[in-house]
Amino acid sequence: MNNSMIHQPLTITSLIEHASRYHGQSEIVSVETSRVDNQPDVVRSNWRTVSDNSKKLASALGKLGVASGDRVATIAWNNRRHLELYFGVACGGMVCHTINPRLFPEQLIYIINHAKDKALFFDSTFVPLVAKLRDKLSTVENFVLMGPRDEDAAAQIEGLKFYDELLATADVNYQWPPLDENTPSSLCYTSGTTGNPKGVLFEHRTTVLHSMGGNQPDGLSISATDTVLPVVPMFHVNAWGVPYVAAAVGCKLVLPGPGLDGASLVNLIDNEKVSLALGVPTIWQGLLVALRESGSKVPSLKRTVVGGSALPPSMITDFRDNYDVDLIHAWGMTEMSPLGTMNQLLQKHAALSPDEQAELRLGQGRPPYGVEMRLVDDDGKILPTDGETQGSLQVRGHWIVDTYYLENKSALTKDGWFDTGDIATIDTDGYMIIRDRAKDIIKSGGEWISTVELENIAVAHPDVANAAVIAARHEKWDERPVLIVVPIDGKNPTEEQLLTFYSGKVAAWQVPDKVLFVESLPLGGTGKILKSELREQFANVLIEAAPA
Ligand code: ADP
Repeated sequence: MNNSMIHQPLTITSLIEHASRYHGQSEIVSVETSRVDNQPDVVRSNWRTVSDNSKKLASALGKLGVASGDRVATIAWNNRRHLELYFGVACGGMVCHTINPRLFPEQLIYIINHAKDKALFFDSTFVPLVAKLRDKLSTVENFVLMGPRDEDAAAQIEGLKFYDELLATADVNYQWPPLDENTPSSLCYTSGTTGNPKGVLFEHRTTVLHSMGGNQPDGLSISATDTVLPVVPMFHVNAWGVPYVAAAVGCKLVLPGPGLDGASLVNLIDNEKVSLALGVPTIWQGLLVALRESGSKVPSLKRTVVGGSALPPSMITDFRDNYDVDLIHAWGMTEMSPLGTMNQLLQKHAALSPDEQAELRLGQGRPPYGVEMRLVDDDGKILPTDGETQGSLQVRGHWIVDTYYLENKSALTKDGWFDTGDIATIDTDGYMIIRDRAKDIIKSGGEWISTVELENIAVAHPDVANAAVIAARHEKWDERPVLIVVPIDGKNPTEEQLLTFYSGKVAAWQVPDKVLFVESLPLGGTGKILKSELREQFANVLIEAAPA
């Protein structure tokens, strides 16, 4: 074909080559997982070294017999070796399969065998876990500890190899193979709150487009002047794509290792002068508590990106008023690589008061170029985007799944859209608000009640540590809300007090029918409340309670 323009494949290789060539000295700061004698807790590397080491890693994998297209799994924290694996595996033509260590052992075994992983790289934290699972992993030929030689670990896992030794024996003249841009690059499984986890196989092209689309000024907006702290784990949808974006812009990266508690993060932010940090709401709740205790004002921190689950309403104003930090609310999912929407204002919002702006920014935000959204009803009819009408949220775009890994049927609707399983509204400017997950929303006599809204009210009560609302079966209304509450230690709120707390905040018919008190709520692998389990346990409480 006679092209009028150069056609270069959109590969992750081009990202790391760019970082190495133009930002080779930008620092990669990595908190080490285990303290090794004579080695510091924090190791300083840079993009040039990450690039060189990832080439060495790719060459070492070749020597181990890992072939192009094979899956290389990781069970690891955010650290420099994990970053080298991201690039070394993908740019070497293999697939980097990141695994969430918080999943149940049976899920881990299922995922590793389903993906037919050929090699498994892991941090020292996970030596006991891997030793326990090892006999059940039928395809893994190489177990590699991400660190220097460690005799204790070697004694637990037969044939164990060591990352630093692999790199030391690698070919220093290794060149990246040329890759088609549609080559698979990484693999993530959804946490599978119902049924088995499903794999989403990302490609070089989709990853590059996601990095460029997600990092526009109204999105993540990361630049070479930033120091970026991805607290979101590298095993949670590629840390929302931050490692790739960081390579594209060549910013300084701070990788927090296993220390994700508030106090460790405050130290890291202050010591490394972090300007942008990203993570789920629970992480920032911990950080805000630690900030109050330490008295630090984190002066370097300008922005936090928060997503993964609903944002507690007070978080935006707490960051804004007490720390001068701009909070950007984001929404997405594994099937979307994951960035779907990010909440930044439009020009016309400049005149709004800070509180009106904060209110707008509580929603999940607008899609960047590359993502389209629509709402449909139960019959597939397209609904208006008027900010009021609720419907099933469907998406399509440049970095959205078509078919789950190793399934032979597309996951899309007949006309090519992916149903997110979320119920949302969208307004005329494209601002989307998640009202609930489709499987959680309560259908009470033909009206819908959002469990998220009822939970937000409950957790705002001073005696409540955590709360979940589920749909309980009801003879007259089909379903009615039941509130399940974990009280704060030492507090004993009554059912009546909690229900009165709803008055004036929602319509009377939306107030829960019953309150149950529990010591803890069941959590899944990504820290989300397992409402399916709560429904199994409590779905009949209203029926059972009814007089015969
Ligand atoms: P799963 O929990 O299904 O394994 P993900 O980690 O990909 O998968 O989570 C995706 C889901 O998380 C979304 O469909 C949505 O319900 C929820 N979610 C993500 N971000 C937000 C947000 N900012 N607000 C509310 N819900 C969110």
